[in-house]
Amino acid sequence: MGLADRVAVVTGGSSGIGLATVEMLLGEGARVAFCGRDRDRLDSARADLESRHDADRILAATCDVLDPAEVARFRDAVVAQFGATDILINNAGQARMSTFAETSDQDWRDELELKFFGVIHPIRAFEALLERSDCGAIVCVNALLSVQPETRLVATSAARAGLLNLTKSLSLDLAPKGIRVNSILLGNVDSGQWSRRYEQLPDKSISREDWLAGLARDRDIPLGRLGRPSEPAAAIVFLASPMASYTTGAALDVSGGHARHV
Ligand code: NDP
Repeated sequence: MGLADRVAVVTGGSSGIGLATVEMLLGEGARVAFCGRDRDRLDSARADLESRHDADRILAATCDVLDPAEVARFRDAVVAQFGATDILINNAGQARMSTFAETSDQDWRDELELKFFGVIHPIRAFEALLERSDCGAIVCVNALLSVQPETRLVATSAARAGLLNLTKSLSLDLAPKGIRVNSILLGNVDSGQWSRRYEQLPDKSISREDWLAGLARDRDIPLGRLGRPSEPAAAIVFLASPMASYTTGAALDVSGGHARHV
């Protein structure tokens, strides 16, 4: 895929879709830096990756993407270890399950801050490095909610729509600098988020597999199941790679057919 020895940065790489993306990039011969907030989760992800990949090609750093000083420190660590950045994957985050009545003003601010600044801070920090690359690329992990809102995820849906708009603007703004900007629109993917939701169920008589199968049925997902993290990871890696060299400003659907629009 043209990724050998390229340097990729993945925010939120210690779990779920981010971790699957890190694994796939390493498999393609890239050098990969990833971050998350929780040290233990990062360490366990790194130890697992190092059992299959060369440790020199991996950098795992604690960093909250909402703190610009931490993001700048993460960027400096990437430069110290790898000397460059070709690819930035903005993946860190989570959804907020709440209806309009349940969402406080502070919840709205928190959600808008996460969805916007979780992308703005890393792009500001890494833009100059991406510009120096001959294949600079940014991929933002977004959601189908951006074009197909759900009332039980009202703030996340609105914030995701804003991120889709921002991603398009950035693709135009950064094109003259040779940086492509694309996104993927996720449906429901079995990840850390869904594990946490299963753990919080009051009734554990149902198995995790049966619970997920029920979710797919309730949501009427045409492919009949939730996605696996490796599936959005493959879409992310494609858009980030030189194989997508003439694609910018695109939003690729990865929802198992859940999109109801043309
Ligand atoms: P996971 O919970 O499995 O992974 C989320 C990752 O992001 C973890 O590594 C987490 O680590 C990290 N993270 C969260 N907040 C921050 C932060 N402020 N700074 C740095 N790292 C952070 O979830 P998914 O893999 O499902 O989520 C990946 C992305 O996909 C998210 O943006 C999510 O909103 C989006 N998405 C997922 C869908 C799904 O069905 N799974 C559907 C639509 C969108 P830590 O907590 O230690 O910081």
